[in-house]
Amino acid sequence: MAESAQPLSARARLAVTAGKAAAAVSRAAGRGSGSVIGGRVALKVDPELLSRLAGHLDVVLVSATNGKTTTTRLIAEALRAGGEVVSNALGANMPAGITSALSGGSEARFGVIEVDEKYLAGVARDVTPKAIALLNLSRDQLDRAAETRMLAERWREGLQGNKATIIANADDPLVVWAASSSPNVVWVAAGQEWKDDAWSCPSCGGVLHRPDDTWRCGECGFGRPMPTWVLSGDTVIDPNGSAWPIRLQLPGRANKANAATAAATAATFGIPPHIALERMQSVAAVAGRYDVVTHQGRDIRLLLAKNPAGWLETFSLIDPPPTPVILSVNARGADGTDTSWLWDVDYGRLAGHPIAVIGDRRLDLAVRLEVAGVDFRVCQSLPEALQQLPPGRIEAIANYTAFQDLRRTVGN
Ligand SMILES: [Zn+2]
Repeated sequence: MAESAQPLSARARLAVTAGKAAAAVSRAAGRGSGSVIGGRVALKVDPELLSRLAGHLDVVLVSATNGKTTTTRLIAEALRAGGEVVSNALGANMPAGITSALSGGSEARFGVIEVDEKYLAGVARDVTPKAIALLNLSRDQLDRAAETRMLAERWREGLQGNKATIIANADDPLVVWAASSSPNVVWVAAGQEWKDDAWSCPSCGGVLHRPDDTWRCGECGFGRPMPTWVLSGDTVIDPNGSAWPIRLQLPGRANKANAATAAATAATFGIPPHIALERMQSVAAVAGRYDVVTHQGRDIRLLLAKNPAGWLETFSLIDPPPTPVILSVNARGADGTDTSWLWDVDYGRLAGHPIAVIGDRRLDLAVRLEVAGVDFRVCQSLPEALQQLPPGRIEAIANYTAFQDLRRTVGN
């Protein structure tokens, strides 16, 4: 068990109260859960609040370009085998949202926290984590490849000498570069579908060679470390060589990789893989993602894809043609206002699917699909798309704010 919780100082208690009041006002005004504004107010009252709240918890941080919300959820489920868990389950992953989530966890033993990539080093300093899971790094809608390399550098500098156990993906050269400054790393062979941000060596800029499933720099010799946990098909192999079946309700290879990392993370807290994996099986949807909803008589599976690597993983998990597909893209603040990333995504992989295109930027997407040579139809709205598409369960893939729009429309 965790040592008994230290009572919070008067200032910290005031900060928590002020944050909860601000959140309640925000909720009453119909502005969402209020967790971010609540956290912001609380941190204004007590800037040290995050580290105080984390003081009595065994903290796990999870960061990545893709899969961090899902993996946070899987780790939280696994660790519940060992005690109560507090988590920012809805994905508010910057310091204010994290502070707000932890304010509700005074009885918990574990804090399982998703952290935005840009805030990882700072949060890792504040909350003294026991474990940090690093899944992948790739360009997202806002950052191009050079920024991705810089992000890896910031992780590397920020994590240098950190006493946490780092659970890191051996198949992502940028993640390996970031983690290898740490003294205590557990390497997981979790795979990497998207390789376009990992052709040059993060250490020296040389060309990476990728024979079979490994990688190595031809110039400086920086290469794939030997993993102790391995995702192999539908199983995860633990450091003793035992293979454990991964049975998830969540679809796709990427989620098996997330489960393998989650099992390795849970093991650092003494939770054996078969117990961890069995608990992960209960997760059916994560903040609306992967949910199958019925709307206007049609079954629709809601899928979120925010960046090129995310779209690629999503294409690999949808049902084969002639399954109908809706694509929705916006370019509002949280999405990035520039849609040039569409050209990094191989939409040719959707050939054979009946496709309807919606969202604020449906015309940008239409141009991209036309060039990719796939057949599609531009629709003004979700109801029109539902009418136009042939029968069968629909796969609806949307980027960030388009996904929120979809959820609102279908009442999910
Ligand atoms: Zn090199």
